[in-house]
Amino acid sequence: MSTQKYLSFDLGSEISYRWDEGDRVTALEGSTHVSDVLALIRDHGELTRTEVIELSGLSRSTINQRLATLSAAGLLTAVGGGESTGGRPSTRFAFNAQRAVVLAADIGATGFTAAACDLDGRPLAHLSHTIDVWSGPDAVLTAVTEAFGRLEFGDAEVWGVAIGVPGPVEYAARRVVNPPIMTGWDRFDIASWFTDRYDALVTVENDANARAVAEARLHQVDNVISLKLGTGIGAGLVFNGQIVRGDKGAAGDIGHTRASITDAEPRLCRCGNLDCVEAYAGGWALQRDLEAAGLPVTSTADVVSLVQRGDMEAVRRVRAAGRVIGDAIATLVSVLNPRTIALSGQLAECDEVLMSGIRERVHQHTVPLVTSDLTITKSTLGELAGVTGLALLTIDALFQPVSMERMLRGHA
Ligand SMILES: [Zn+2]
Repeated sequence: MSTQKYLSFDLGSEISYRWDEGDRVTALEGSTHVSDVLALIRDHGELTRTEVIELSGLSRSTINQRLATLSAAGLLTAVGGGESTGGRPSTRFAFNAQRAVVLAADIGATGFTAAACDLDGRPLAHLSHTIDVWSGPDAVLTAVTEAFGRLEFGDAEVWGVAIGVPGPVEYAARRVVNPPIMTGWDRFDIASWFTDRYDALVTVENDANARAVAEARLHQVDNVISLKLGTGIGAGLVFNGQIVRGDKGAAGDIGHTRASITDAEPRLCRCGNLDCVEAYAGGWALQRDLEAAGLPVTSTADVVSLVQRGDMEAVRRVRAAGRVIGDAIATLVSVLNPRTIALSGQLAECDEVLMSGIRERVHQHTVPLVTSDLTITKSTLGELAGVTGLALLTIDALFQPVSMERMLRGHA
């Protein structure tokens, strides 16, 4: 059926998998790498030796060797249960997600969330820290490194480090390029900062892309737009199970597209252009406007708490912001036809006050077929959406044949 769905995102894997009607891996073709056997077991949860042989189509001796390698590396644990044909309980092999951790930091404009995640991408420990992204890479990444040091994850080894940033990422070089708001970060070598400090695989990803991956995996959907609505506005796109990055990593940057509803007076955006979507609907713009209206707000969080307390002016402005965002994504929805639009970021805490405007405009400006199964909802992962997606992407990279070779040499 289809190939390379949620097992691999954008990593150039040449392994092909066959999928049955229940969308599970049923056979491997053209490769006998140890990572294929691990992928089978990760996908099914637990398998006996015989099941691995049947599902993989590989010989018993090859499978014995692969299972021994993976067990010696601590990636598989033997669990009881399961009757063999002779009545003797046969060993089942399960993926040992506790073998190591991935440290992930989801950096936003005014703070970051750091987490230690297991090899299933589940956050085991996390903390949040306030910092201005404008203070530059040295200050921010020093704070991130210190935060990683405070996370408690026992004596598990660190196999991966994943950094999410609120700007376009040149994926192969793992650095930020021409970020509209991240002054001082342009082309800063984020990956080297961490490879100098950790003997681990390092990935750098746009924050909204990472959130889209988390939503796609969690809900097992292939076509997702994630909207990160915080100080700024960004969109992450996962289509056909793959991140859509675009040529320069700038795909999905809807915050700096032109707003369709504009005031008589042009509004200056923090990127320097006039009348961007962010200049109407970004957390920073709402804060500016409410402050100008005489309300006591100094942050996006203050805007959210005014809305939650039912302040009429704040509610009116956030509703209007929802319509601006809805207009901005309606074309995207028509062009790309997502199944899910997941909202995260501080402003998403305004719930229906914000979402009603988004829904209204998306439904107004698209044909019914496009919205017939479309869900527009707040992310159930909340503040952990970013770190979860970052960890999952890094785990994909860790279990690619090339990285596994390196890892097994070190741990076998
Ligand atoms: Zn702008």
